[in-house]
Order: sequence, then structure tokens, then C-alpha cells
Amino acid sequence: MTERRAALLTRHGKHAAIAPALAEIGWHLELVDSYDTDLLGTFSGEIERAGSQRDAALAKAQGACELAGVRYGLGSEGRFGADPWLGCSGWASELLLCWDGQRRYAIEAWISGAQTNFYQTTLSSMAALPDLLSRVGFPEHGLIVGHPGSAAFHKELVDEASLRAHLLQHLAQAPLELCSDMRAHRNPTRMAMIARCAQGLAQRLACACPVCAMPGYGEIAPLAGALCADCARPTRQPRVRRFQCPCCQVIHEQPWPTQASPQYCDHCNP
Ligand SMILES: [Zn+2]
Ligand SMILES: [Zn+2]
Repeated sequence: MTERRAALLTRHGKHAAIAPALAEIGWHLELVDSYDTDLLGTFSGEIERAGSQRDAALAKAQGACELAGVRYGLGSEGRFGADPWLGCSGWASELLLCWDGQRRYAIEAWISGAQTNFYQTTLSSMAALPDLLSRVGFPEHGLIVGHPGSAAFHKELVDEASLRAHLLQHLAQAPLELCSDMRAHRNPTRMAMIARCAQGLAQRLACACPVCAMPGYGEIAPLAGALCADCARPTRQPRVRRFQCPCCQVIHEQPWPTQASPQYCDHCNP
């Protein structure tokens, strides 16, 4: 492979989080800031994101290729909500995708977890503010007040004095919707997750497919069905590790090295 540079569209400072991991494998990351990625959808809802998280990351990556005139383009897109089990804490999912504009395939790195300050709430009195600020991590992390189109809407309040003044002015009319700002440049917790995602992508870029030699070969979700160590019945634990090339789609399988613990067996531990 000869070309080792990729372009990234961002106005949200993601370059600093992504470039170091790529530099470690000898890739150069070019910044394209001439395009406003907010046109592809914003977290605060001024513009709805069209399609899935992957669609959005892909559109950014393809746009980066075109605008920079390079073979590889990167796209980053996050999704935030409640954790999938109890639904009571925040949950983040980040995708960093590299589009090969010549071979026309995408190399994807996903990461998800509870490392997020994602939080939405309704504020009816200033008394609840200190708790909210510590939960969100303001002012290091941004806070968005109100919804787009409402008089109270504001997403550029950077210190507590201006935030308080703004809230006091609008709280007199009605309770206010407040939300953690998930834009990367206003959210160091998210920025750290994007950096971890970049390490995952770098690992894939550095791994050439044993069949077609293109970058991106890596592990995908395993097949379940490992046999229980006690009763030998199949469990939902992994049975087969799988590795796939996103370019030629070849899949290689490898038996999982261990049997399942009876702890995970529906028969032994219902
Ligand atoms: Zn391949
Ligand atoms: Zn069992």
C-alpha cells in the first residue's frame, strides 16, 4: 500500500483526538474545515440527522475524500442515550470509519460504554443547579439550554456566571430543558472516547487482509454456542472467533480456546 494519508472533516477539534493514533502507524491525517459537518445533523436538534449513525459517518468520510481529493476519508459519529440494561445511566456509542474512495469500501471501528456525561433534565429551580453542573462536568463540559427555536435556546455559555444569568432570565417564564453538550470540542469525555476509537481504527488500518492485502482485516463478533464445562450443553458464550476483511469480505474462523463456565449455562445456572 502506498498512500498513507486520510482526510477528516471537522470543526469540532476531533483532529487532535484522532491524528496521534494514526501517526503511530505512519498515517497522516489531513484536516478539512471548509465544510460545516453540522449540515449533516446536530445533537442539539437544529438539523435532524438523516439515517443511521453509520450513514452519517459514511457521508462525512465520503465528503472528506471528495473535498480533500484524497483516496481515504474519515468520518466520526457518536450516538448517546440510556444504557441498554437498566436505562438509568448514560451510554455512548462511537463510530470512526475510514472510506477507501478507490476500492469503495469502509473500515469501521466501534466503541461503546458508560464513559459519558450524557444527561438530559428539566430544571425548575436554581437550587438544583449545583448537582446538575457537577454531574455534567460544567464548565469543562458544555451544557445546552432549551430547544432550537425557543427563546431560551443557548449552547455557547462557557462559564457559570453567564449560565446563571441566562437561566435566571428564562426560568421566570417556565422550567427549562437542559442537556449535556455532546459536541466533541465541548466534551472532553467524548473526545477521550473518540481517541480510543481511533486506536481501534489504527489497529485495523495496520492489519492487511491475508487474501486481498487491503487494510482493515480484524476481529468481528464471535459465534455463540460454547459447550458448558459441566454439562456439555451449548451456552450463549462464544464458541468461534471470527476475523473478516471489509474489502473482499473473506471470513476466517478460529475455535474459542476455552469451554464455557457453568456460571453462564442456562441449564446449570438458570
Ligand atoms: Zn481481503
Ligand atoms: Zn451446564
